[in-house]
Amino acid sequence: MRLRIVLAKVNPEAIPVPTRCTYTGCSGRKFHLRQEVRKSLRDTVYQQVQVHRYQCLKCQRTFRVYPEGASRAQTSQRVKGLAVMLYLLGLSYGATSLALEALGVYLCKSRVYDAVQETTKRVPGLTRDQVFAGVKTPDARRRSDQRQMQRRVVAAGHHGRCDQWAGPEH
Ligand SMILES: [Zn+2]
Repeated sequence: MRLRIVLAKVNPEAIPVPTRCTYTGCSGRKFHLRQEVRKSLRDTVYQQVQVHRYQCLKCQRTFRVYPEGASRAQTSQRVKGLAVMLYLLGLSYGATSLALEALGVYLCKSRVYDAVQETTKRVPGLTRDQVFAGVKTPDARRRSDQRQMQRRVVAAGHHGRCDQWAGPEH
């Protein structure tokens, strides 16, 4: 089975100009750019991005506009997408967290879980079973080998250490 995965990018330069007020019930279409604020981000490339704070000239309330790939959330869309991809490819939440750590971004396994939940809510039917539909492991032994390998990789106190991979199979 071939997967087609499009990962979101983070583009700090692409901060859209608002065309309508974000507050429900307000029809405001004119805004005043009040402030540029820095926001720290969990991402593989950018640790910080610039965010625009606008004030609606109709209701006077303020709101933030984020650059492409960023949102109110601490984690970028790219990292969330990466987490979901690794999970769908068969890694456990813990192993996904370790793989991301190796790429320089820390996302604990409960945040990986949240990212998967968020995505599956948006894309109904996006499950591992669906991704691997028709692909069956020939026997249960392989599955138990995978579990054993996972346990070995995520053994407490040895997070991300390469020597965990050295074993009789080498
Ligand atoms: Zn408004």
